[in-house]
Parts: sequence; C-alpha cells; structure tokens
Amino acid sequence: GGRSYSFMLRTKNPCGKVPNKLYLTMDDLADQFGIGTLRLTTRQTFQLHGVLKKNLKTVMSSIIHSMGSTLGACGDLNRNVLAPAAPFARKDYQFAQQTADNIAALLTPQSGFYYDMWVDGEKIMSAEPPEVVKARNDNSHGTNFPDSPEPIYGTQFLPRKFKIAVTVPTDNSVDLLTNDIGVVVITDADGEPSGVGGGMGRTHRLETTFPRLAEPLGYVPKEDILYAVKAIVVTQRENGRRDDQVLWSNTMGRNLILPVNCPEWEFKSYLGWHEQGDGGLFCGLHVDSGRVGGKMKATLREIIEKYNLDVRLTPNQNIILCGIRKAWKHPITTALAQAGLLQPKYVDPLNLTAMACPAFPLCPLAITEAERGIPDILKRVRAVFEKVGLKYNESVVIRATGCPNGCARPYMAEVGFVGDGPNSYQIWLGGTPNQTSIARTFMNKVKIHDLEKVLEPLFYYWKRKRQSKESFGDFTNRVGFEMLQEWVDKWD
Ligand code: SF4
Repeated sequence: GGRSYSFMLRTKNPCGKVPNKLYLTMDDLADQFGIGTLRLTTRQTFQLHGVLKKNLKTVMSSIIHSMGSTLGACGDLNRNVLAPAAPFARKDYQFAQQTADNIAALLTPQSGFYYDMWVDGEKIMSAEPPEVVKARNDNSHGTNFPDSPEPIYGTQFLPRKFKIAVTVPTDNSVDLLTNDIGVVVITDADGEPSGVGGGMGRTHRLETTFPRLAEPLGYVPKEDILYAVKAIVVTQRENGRRDDQVLWSNTMGRNLILPVNCPEWEFKSYLGWHEQGDGGLFCGLHVDSGRVGGKMKATLREIIEKYNLDVRLTPNQNIILCGIRKAWKHPITTALAQAGLLQPKYVDPLNLTAMACPAFPLCPLAITEAERGIPDILKRVRAVFEKVGLKYNESVVIRATGCPNGCARPYMAEVGFVGDGPNSYQIWLGGTPNQTSIARTFMNKVKIHDLEKVLEPLFYYWKRKRQSKESFGDFTNRVGFEMLQEWVDKWD
C-alpha cells in the first residue's frame, strides 16, 4: 500500500458553543479516527488531526449529524466568529453571542455542495433566523449577485479570509483587536443592548507580517448590525480593502456616528467556578495548548456525559463546563481534583495565559516547534524568574508559533516566539496582559538553547527597574528596545 494521507478537520462553533451531543461525538471520533486527543483552537473550535481519507466521510457525517451546520468548510471565507464564551445570563453577553451566531450564518456559503458531499444531500441544516435570510438577500443597495447561489460572494473569491469577533465592553477574552472586524455591544441605561460599535484591522498580519491594531470605525443601531457586516464584506469584495469609510457609509446608506468610548479592556479567563446569573454555575478549566488527552479527556467525558453538560471553548483554548446545578458542584469538584484539573493550585500562572499553535508534526507550514516546545520554554522562563528573584505569582503572556502565520496570536503577546528557522525564533516584545498593544520584533534568529541569554537580562531589569505593578509589556515599551538590546548585549 502507498502512503495514507491524513486530514485535519475543523468545526465551526460561533462563540465556542458546543452542545453536549457534539462534545461526546468529537470525543468518540478522536479515539476512533483521530490521534486520540482533541484540540481546542484559538478560534473556539475543535481540530481533529490525523483522520485518514477512507474515514473522512464517516467522520464528517457524524459531526454534521451531531449538530447540523457545525463543520467548517475549507471554502469558508469567514473564519469562526468569536464571542465571549462565558454563559452569563446577561442581556449584553447573550446579545453578543446571538450576534456572533447570526454573523456566522450570514456569511456561510450557501451552495449546498459541501454538505451534499458528506451526507448524500440529506437536508440537515438547521433553519436560519429570518433576519439573517433578509439581510443576506437584501439587494436594495445593489450589493448582491441576485442570480447567484452565493448572493454575497458571487463567484468571486475574497482576497483572503475574514476574522470577526463580537464582545461586550471590558471583556477582551476574544483578543478583539486582532480581528478584521471587531464588534462591541453597546447597552442603554437599562442594560438593554441598543447597538454596536465597531472597528477594523487595516492591514493583515499574514500578508505583511506587520500587524496593525483595529481602528475604531463607527456605531450602528442593533437592527443594522448584519447589514453593516455585510457592507464591510461587500466593500472588501469590491475593493480588496476594508478601510474606506466613505464607501462603507454609502453602502450602508447612512452616515456613521462616531465611535463610542469604551472603558479599559481586560483579559478574562473565566477559570474556576462562577455564577451564571440564572441559578446555575459554570466552571472554566485550563487546557495546556488546547490539547485534551489522557486522564483529562477521560475525566471531562465522564463529567460531561453524566451531568449532560453543554460546554464552551474559549479563544484562549480553554474549556468551560456550563449549566451546572449547585448540588453538582461538590461531586464535580471532587472528580476534577482527582484528575488534577483544578486551578490555579496545580498550574503555573505562566501556563494559564500561554498559547502555542500545533506546528510540528501536525502543520505542514511549521518551520520549528510550538505546541511540543512550549512546556519546556515555560519551565525555563519560570527558572529564570526564580533566578532573578521574581515571585511565583508573577507572570507574562507568552505565545509561540511554528511560523510567521501567527495562528496563536504571538503579535499581541508580552513575549512572542515566532519560528524563523530550525530551532530558532524571532522574539517579539511589547504586547500587554489585556492584549491592547501590538508587539514588535525585538530579535531575530534566536536559537532555542540561547533563550536564557536574552530573557535573563530582560527579566532581571524588569524586576529591578519597573514602576509599581508595571507589566512586562508596559515596561519593555517604556524603556524602549534600544535600552533592552544594550542590556542583552552586555549581559554575562
Ligand atoms: Fe502552522 Fe504556522 Fe499556523 Fe503554527 S502559525 S499552525 S506553524 S501555519
């Protein structure tokens, strides 16, 4: 027999929602047809690695049958839409999640070919909300291809994929500013969602490897959100760019109102136990590099199956168990503790915010290690912390990727490692703990065994010269890269 090619499948879960049945199906499929582990991605989806070609059809139809339209298609022009994963029974959170769902539905390619191929044309797509269908088909501004099965896309390809996130003020669990379109729910005095503010990334990091932050764009009332997103996509389709405000306003048929001021963003991890606000509880669990395997996989399955729990995936590759009754808290805590899954007692704070892409051996674009390498990198950083006198509760946001594509968003990290050769990395500095500042390249081609030569002086001077409570990212930006470079060069 010749080579057996294996495939990677990606699900589609707007705001990371995973119904009970889908979780159990994915858990089974990973054992039967994958490599025995599940991987949670930085876009709140599952990846299933190692599926052989002969099993593709079985796997795909199982996923589709478990939850309707939940399989991401290769031709999808819109990546999974992010929203805060926390199942808060709050109007603003629920509106953000509903909006993410609607945007995902709006931008899903309409041609049935994909599903036809895997489930023999059986009609399994769930019904779409009428407002989504209306927004998609509305051609009153001449934006559509009325005779095409793809009214928004036509037969053209957008120059590249779109990344969209929706959130509420202060909650930056979605890494909002790294998306092409960032949507923020605005509420009125009664906490009722009234509209959204938005911003767009101007230059794409993948094409230029020069990331830019999203820029504030405007405010639209909530009835118009789908039209606004569609207008941006159509503008992009027509112009290959998204930053033309005039064109965007014309397409929208109204003038934009100035952006609303947002309070300070915070990174929210949702780890541990929380009240949902409806009598139920949720519990966030940290998953190193989003890889669910071994004892963790078995324990999660047992709990999720026994209590019939829905789960949510976070953009930081963690998992949230939802809808837990108060009476179940004790037995679930016990089961989690027995498997060593309770935080933060057992997890180094460095691991809690770290991310890495799959890289070797799973990604064909990888030029060096990321997921397999990051546990050791974090241990070495912790050792450097100890050596220079930084305490255990000190942390920095570390992200690593196997190539400049930056799938684990290293360009917003306080320390980003971006693979630039065999066993070597670019080091990026200058992101902040709440992901509101873009990092810059500090050094190139740093060999992995030379890590301490760079990190030790940096952390040594952070410890000694930082202002009160100054994060490492803020510190590196304040003192400047020239100073940092001098410290590294003189270090012995
Ligand atoms: Fe692959 Fe590069 Fe993305 Fe990592 S960053 S998953 S190596 S494409």
